[in-house]
Amino acid sequence: MPHSSKAVICRELNKPVVVETITVDGPKRGEVTVRIAACGVCHSDLSATNGTIALPPPLVLGHEGAGEVIEIGEGVTSFAAGDHVVSSFIYMCGKCRYCSAGRPVLCMEQGKALLTPAEGTPRTRDRDGKPLNIFSGCGVMAEYATLSVDNVVKIDPTIPLDRAALVGCAVTTGVGAVFNTAKVESGSSVAVFGCGGVGLNAIQGAAIAGAERILAIDTLQSKLELAKKFGATDTLLATPGQDPTKEIKKLTGGGPDYAFECVGSGALAEAAYKAIRRGGKAVIVGVARATDAACFKPMTMVFEEKTLQGSYFGSCVPRIDFPRMLQLYMAGRLKLDELITKRYKIDEAPQAFADLESGKNARGVIVF
Ligand SMILES: [Zn+2]
Ligand SMILES: [Zn+2]
Repeated sequence: MPHSSKAVICRELNKPVVVETITVDGPKRGEVTVRIAACGVCHSDLSATNGTIALPPPLVLGHEGAGEVIEIGEGVTSFAAGDHVVSSFIYMCGKCRYCSAGRPVLCMEQGKALLTPAEGTPRTRDRDGKPLNIFSGCGVMAEYATLSVDNVVKIDPTIPLDRAALVGCAVTTGVGAVFNTAKVESGSSVAVFGCGGVGLNAIQGAAIAGAERILAIDTLQSKLELAKKFGATDTLLATPGQDPTKEIKKLTGGGPDYAFECVGSGALAEAAYKAIRRGGKAVIVGVARATDAACFKPMTMVFEEKTLQGSYFGSCVPRIDFPRMLQLYMAGRLKLDELITKRYKIDEAPQAFADLESGKNARGVIVF
């Protein structure tokens, strides 16, 4: 059944987002329609509106949503109406070598569900009946969304959906980079570049993993204050455009064991690699512009046995990691309540994006 649905749309690059009433068609085979309850406003949504992430407009934004399944398509056996779910912006075919190896973030078929559900045709139309693209198989910044079953994960229905939504991107990206990609050991030292939604989660992931020192680095004092609440033991107020490496080395007694770059900057990727101590690991989490580059000395990699590693979506397996993160929240060990610094109505979406750009929120969430 088609649903009339308000949705947040990028109509034109480098222009503010707009809220329109669109039509969301019901599910085809292997799909579910979800009534969205909440959707986080992520930097990647902003990046799609300015071309850093190349998902062409007109684009229904949103990839960090949670809601209730209201309709299931033909052949769907793993979901039923009433199930609570969180969206997952990586499509996993379940059959390729990476899916088979338990690394669905590297699925070779991801391109299939980038702008539409994996089946290949759109479920979203504007009021003139023209098709709309959806953000990475999701498009969940809308009252309704129809997704492939491989883009949704079932969760415990007792968990509030506005908080559950956050594991769909920021939490899993940050905490997963620490748990899954870097495998931070207890007692180690960690530096985190950038204290936005992802960086704060790298910080709290490091705290849960038992890191002894956690240095938060940001250019805004307000974000450093927030970082302390998430487990940062030390903070460094960086000056935009200046290399903070020396300061970091001084504050961590020669460099941290692990550095997480959560901004998406070539210069900071360089700084993260330079800052780590001998035998250290620098993990690149932030998505830099495609034209951005970084430079490092390969010799240091040999003599200092340094590692430079990328982490996409916290190297997660959504069906394992989403419930795992939410269990940590229910056990009082993972902070989600504190992460949401502002809730918006869907009509306030342009303001939510402006606030994100100005660095006002840890996480702004649109609540339906
Ligand atoms: Zn995101
Ligand atoms: Zn695959």
